[in-house]
Amino acid sequence: MDLIIGKLRRNFGRDVDEATSQQMFQACALVVRDIISERQLKSADKERDEHARQVHYLSMEFLMGRSLRKNAYNLGMVKPLTQAIEALGFSAADLFEEEPDAGLGNGGLGRLAACYLDAATTLDIPLTGYTICYELGIFKQKIVDGQQIELPDNWLDRGGAWLITKMDETEEVRFGGTVKDVWYPDGSHGIDHSGYTTVLAVPRDMQIAGYKTNQANVLRLWDAKSPTPVDMSLYSAGEYLKAVEQQANAEVISKVLYPEDNHREGKSLRLKQQYFFVSATVQSICRKHKAEYGTLRNFHEKHVLQINDTHPTLVIPELMRILLDQEGYSWEDAWYIVSRSVAYTNHTVLSEALERWPQDLVESLLPRIWQIIVEISNRYQSELSAYWNGDQSKLEKLAIIWGHEVRMANLCVCACSAVNGVSALHTEILKTDVFKDAYQRQPDKFHNVTNGVDHRRWLSEVNPELDALIIDCCGSDKYLLQPDALTELEKFADDAAVLEKLADIKKHNKARFAAWVQRESGVLLNTDAMFDVQVKRLHEYKRQLLNALHIIYLWQQLHANPNFELTPRVYLFGAKAAPGYAVAKEIIHLLNSLADTVNKDPVCKDKLQMVFLENYRVSMAETLIPASELSEQISTAGKEASGTSNMKFMMNGALTIGTLDGANVEMHQRVGDENFFLFGLKTEEVNEMRRRGYKSYEYYMQNPALKAVIDQLTVGFDDGVSYAGLAKRLLFGNGCPPDEYFLLADFESYRSAQLSAGRTYLDPKTWNRMSLINIARSGIFAADRSIRDYADEIWHVPHR
Ligand SMILES: *Cc1c(COP(=O)(O)O)cnc(C)c1O
Repeated sequence: MDLIIGKLRRNFGRDVDEATSQQMFQACALVVRDIISERQLKSADKERDEHARQVHYLSMEFLMGRSLRKNAYNLGMVKPLTQAIEALGFSAADLFEEEPDAGLGNGGLGRLAACYLDAATTLDIPLTGYTICYELGIFKQKIVDGQQIELPDNWLDRGGAWLITKMDETEEVRFGGTVKDVWYPDGSHGIDHSGYTTVLAVPRDMQIAGYKTNQANVLRLWDAKSPTPVDMSLYSAGEYLKAVEQQANAEVISKVLYPEDNHREGKSLRLKQQYFFVSATVQSICRKHKAEYGTLRNFHEKHVLQINDTHPTLVIPELMRILLDQEGYSWEDAWYIVSRSVAYTNHTVLSEALERWPQDLVESLLPRIWQIIVEISNRYQSELSAYWNGDQSKLEKLAIIWGHEVRMANLCVCACSAVNGVSALHTEILKTDVFKDAYQRQPDKFHNVTNGVDHRRWLSEVNPELDALIIDCCGSDKYLLQPDALTELEKFADDAAVLEKLADIKKHNKARFAAWVQRESGVLLNTDAMFDVQVKRLHEYKRQLLNALHIIYLWQQLHANPNFELTPRVYLFGAKAAPGYAVAKEIIHLLNSLADTVNKDPVCKDKLQMVFLENYRVSMAETLIPASELSEQISTAGKEASGTSNMKFMMNGALTIGTLDGANVEMHQRVGDENFFLFGLKTEEVNEMRRRGYKSYEYYMQNPALKAVIDQLTVGFDDGVSYAGLAKRLLFGNGCPPDEYFLLADFESYRSAQLSAGRTYLDPKTWNRMSLINIARSGIFAADRSIRDYADEIWHVPHR
């Protein structure tokens, strides 16, 4: 308490009675930060003394969400902190709500990185995360007249309380210019790079605490600054403006997170961002390594650089550059080190997401990096040509540079010591399809590490009543560090009292979420109805539209027949669309038009409610997921690499209605048919239908109920907006194959799984038993398990 008072006085010149709740939040954050900082210094000293092998996790995104309660949780001080806050006359719950989400990510990929920081730290692995200190995180979504508008997310004002700026660890990153070979009198060769622009990379470190450990790690966020100080007095008018412009050009690099999820954005600023954070990171690691060992010869023994998707691929040529140009190593020696230091995680098989950069752009922005990529590419071509006896079709598929583009995934597969997919199915698709030939040549390079989520955050912290029930049933809190211990809960699968308790907890969480929704938006949720939830980025492959089609079907059936069998439902949606993704935005519009219509319709009263939740984000997920009963994981088979919200729902006792896609496959395998509402085509079936020429129109013509639903899109809803464009896309395509994601083919199967879920819900004993079994078997989806897999199979580092 005294610590908080001290921070208020020193940082804001305020006493407690004059402090705003924002200042109070910041004071608490600073107190907690100091505690983690102390531990982090000790961890770093210990690692240096032991010359420990280090993991570096490079990711363009870390979707951290809020940190105050989470850090307090990990430090075992939620209670004392809460008491101190209350004793100072503030509500702890309200204060936690003051914290802005650190939204430095789009969705699953960024949230995964955040979960992995927690798990690695808790497992005593020295791991540092690296990303960009975006001034603006993922946009804030507002719905106006049913449509998405985007507002800037200025999180740093308050969220900056967690960051410690380390000016003395600033790195310089160079863009543009020209490179020339130079030969020195002694016959050695060097590179002269001139005419470049320098941007400073200033580290702003976020301290990461682990759970029940003294280990603390760092997430390093690089902030872009201009090396030119703008000082009016020094410049004539012309130079002054040039200086201001230079400053703006440099600082724009860390201005904003690109809001595209699972989509490549071929903008030069995006490439600048990638090289900026990668170059700063590699330089920083090398600088520290040299200070410790005096040489980079043993670099690969002491470091592994894990790259989260292809966005940080430029670490490969950047590390080569340092070893070649600064250390003077031979190509072979440099390649030996680099190829043993970097590992790559693939996150998608969607072709629109696979990164390819125009040669011209790479060449002009990063001339030396371009030369190195060309050399890597040429050497790879000769190797492949020898291996495949010059088979052109193989060479084309595996090429790093092709059609004047650099293919980042192929560069990763060539250079990395390990390549992994993120679920069993996804890895299988990598091996048999996307990277088939590379897999045949080097099968040992390929691994699977199924994604996992931080179960301490996503179960224990966000669902304290469930946490208490688990501890009570299992006799200890062992599951927090050994998530597999959740299986002990299964002994209670037929214990009526425990099942009832489980149902009560769900009820409380629903009430809590409903109260939150009412406060935020004024909407009253029917808490007696089943909460059926689909929250994730808006993407056609995730098929929010299939869910909407089914709701239209229910609404039409209620009109046709007031006695239509329907278990009361509240359909909840939350989704941001990339600002340039027109179809996704149209689907959001549809969801809002439909929700308005259904909610006003007397026929739907107490039976069917539909709410689009504005601005879906981590902190919303934290109250929503514990309140959810049915989890919609309905992507087209073969498209979702893993999914992670599916795991968060499972741990919180929601049942899944889902396809055999991503990690759903492993979830279904764990709980069995009888504890999962499975539907839909399998990956092979989807591929087969695509080969044969899928005709969605036939499903439309042969199923009158489905036809009525699609026709309703064209007619529209109460607001008079027609969604004929979406209907046309489903029936005829529009610069794309008709119904590219097989909604019509899967509709009947989905309808029948929905019916089955509704009927099961009416039998609470069965439902609660299924729910308990899902929780009990969810331990395998903890990030701790994923991180142990990485540590054992890819990183080769010890862990707790
Ligand atoms: C977990 C999470 C995601 C990922 O959801 P998927 O359904 O796996 O795509 C996206 N956004 C937020 C805020 C999350 O917490």
